[in-house]
Amino acid sequence: MMKKVIAIHSGRVPVPPFAGGPLADTLGRTMHDLRISVTDRCNFRCVYCMPREVFDSSYRFLPHGAILSFEEIMRLARIFAGLGVKKIRLTGGEPLVRKELPRLVAMLAELGAELTLTTNGSLLAKQAGALAKAGLDRVTVSLDSLDDATFRAMNDADFPVARVLEGIEAAAAAGLAPVKINMVVKRGVNDQHIVPMAEYWRGKRHPGRYVLRFIEYMDVGSSNGWRMDEVVPSAQVVRLIGSRWPLEPVDPNYSGEVAERWRYVDGAGEIGVISSVTQAFCSSCTRMRLSTEGALYTCLFAQAGHDLKRLLRGGASDDEIRSEIAAVWLARSDRYSEIRTRQTSQSPKVEMSYIGG
Ligand code: SAM
Repeated sequence: MMKKVIAIHSGRVPVPPFAGGPLADTLGRTMHDLRISVTDRCNFRCVYCMPREVFDSSYRFLPHGAILSFEEIMRLARIFAGLGVKKIRLTGGEPLVRKELPRLVAMLAELGAELTLTTNGSLLAKQAGALAKAGLDRVTVSLDSLDDATFRAMNDADFPVARVLEGIEAAAAAGLAPVKINMVVKRGVNDQHIVPMAEYWRGKRHPGRYVLRFIEYMDVGSSNGWRMDEVVPSAQVVRLIGSRWPLEPVDPNYSGEVAERWRYVDGAGEIGVISSVTQAFCSSCTRMRLSTEGALYTCLFAQAGHDLKRLLRGGASDDEIRSEIAAVWLARSDRYSEIRTRQTSQSPKVEMSYIGG
């Protein structure tokens, strides 16, 4: 069984207590987004994320008592909102395998932040209506190929494409639009499906209902055996699609937007590319991540988190927790993707399924 990389600092961060005002880290980045992992479990075993040979029957997922309750998540989310967080994304693992998720959504919706969710779509057809009713604003669905055999091989759970497509339709019908569709591209595995994927979503019903995005395969975690030559650079994806249907660049929706936007010149909508490997965007990264068991991570590629559960369950006041979170952000200096090398890509990091994608 693989050794889990879950280092959590429980000591206090050595900086002065937060005195209010805008919260900027050591590189001047302000905190804007919070990603909350609601479970480290997933019903898929995507080859690039939770390879079955590692996440097998002997893998020890977190026991129920170790994961944050909805009430604990809500308490932290309220503190984060007070510190300037404007956007919350629920993720995992697969967030829809967490029982009663719409109840958490309804609680978080009270905060007034933009509320979104990333899912593999497998359980979305059943849950889209309840999630929308509870106050979810939008969903992002991961879909790596429209070719059923390729998709089943990539999710390694023999799950058919058709059921994910049903989930996407149900989400759009429930008002969770625009539905973003994320395709992770791995060379030699699904790169031949880029153009068919673009063709399928182009102008589908009306532009803006679905936005397809291509993600560069990343060296997250320590179990996917990442190699640079398996990354298909976004520039190549844009060239490939643009040679078939001309594309033009679109301004970002807001500063710090992760995806670079491109519009079809013929008006059939737009695509996005997320170039975390070839064009790192650390300098505008405004994301904080809360793991399933209440550890705070300032980077997707972090090696260690900061333990907030200890404070939550140890009787700390909201003010004390607020100061701790602020201190973590103020001390933040990570910019992993900008300094990635062959060596760093081999270094132990927390798994994406644990920290939240
Ligand atoms: N289970 C949910 C899902 O499938 O969307 C949420 C969690 S998943 C870890 C979040 C996103 O991370 C998915 O879009 C997935 O494809 C992406 N992802 C996972 N491993 C990746 C990797 N090595 N490189 C790029 N993206 C990755």
